[in-house]
Amino acid sequence: MVKLEDIEKARKEINAFIHETPILVSELLDAQAGREIYLKSEHLQKTGSFKIRGATNAVKRAEREGARFITAASSGNHGQAVAYIAGKLGIPAVIVVPEDANRAKVAAIEAYGGQVEYCGLTSADRIPRAKQLAKEQDGVYIPPYDHPDIIAGQGTVGLEILEQLPDVDVIVVPVGGGGLISGILTAVKAIRPEVKIIGVEPETGNDTFLSLEFGTITAVAGSSSIADGLRTSQPGDLTFPILQQYIDGIVLVSEDEIKHAMQFVIERTKQLIEPSAATGVAAVLAGKAGAQNEKIAVILSGGNIDLMELRHCLPD
Ligand SMILES: *Cc1c(COP(=O)(O)O)cnc(C)c1O
Repeated sequence: MVKLEDIEKARKEINAFIHETPILVSELLDAQAGREIYLKSEHLQKTGSFKIRGATNAVKRAEREGARFITAASSGNHGQAVAYIAGKLGIPAVIVVPEDANRAKVAAIEAYGGQVEYCGLTSADRIPRAKQLAKEQDGVYIPPYDHPDIIAGQGTVGLEILEQLPDVDVIVVPVGGGGLISGILTAVKAIRPEVKIIGVEPETGNDTFLSLEFGTITAVAGSSSIADGLRTSQPGDLTFPILQQYIDGIVLVSEDEIKHAMQFVIERTKQLIEPSAATGVAAVLAGKAGAQNEKIAVILSGGNIDLMELRHCLPD
């Protein structure tokens, strides 16, 4: 199990490669939500999402252990993050993406120096291919969330929040496979156990909500939420026990709530975020997370959105 110490080590490891992202505030958001909200701005992170934290921690270890190349299976933020850090470290990376991958995302991977390989349409096609490529030629496959180095890297967000906002009461975190929230739980509950940590999922991708309810990892059928970073079908074998031990609650937001939060953040705070990152704001605007006298940190987890897609992510 990942420990606070692993997260502190990860922080030193990744420090030179990432930004310590700012916390932004908005009087309008506070007024609308009736709460004090602090936006931890990982949409301003290198590669446009927090994924670079875990990816850097994991790729640096692979490099130290003599990996000749790196593979990953994601056209999204994880694939971009792995391609970027491998490029920086001068290690070749092959990123396996679905045949229908968004062209802008593929172009970003290639611009970071990653080599793109197309394979199938689902993660059940891509992941075995990325693992096989790694096995064939002394490479290392880097998973998106269910790995101790990834969890430790993502946990550095928690350390930063505690320093930037020492009297935080609640932290609201979008949940996909649970790498981000399990890292934050591990860091924050070790230092300030009284801080409440609330996860957010889209209603249609409520695998973690159900898994916690049933007390066992439970899969849901392919979510089509606009929050594409949160469509994972089930929590991870490593992440789920951490959630079970520490999480204070998980709330669900509707597609409409996510769209309204997107509009609110873009219009009112002028920050360009992606739908997955809007879910935390959606939860506080709907009054589902945090109480009125509490200081609430909400993680804006990423800002990678294709502008052609943007209007589908806003209210009609
Ligand atoms: C990956 C991702 C998430 C979810 O993170 P997990 O570690 O899978 O829970 C949330 N938001 C964005 C923008 C992401 O890229």
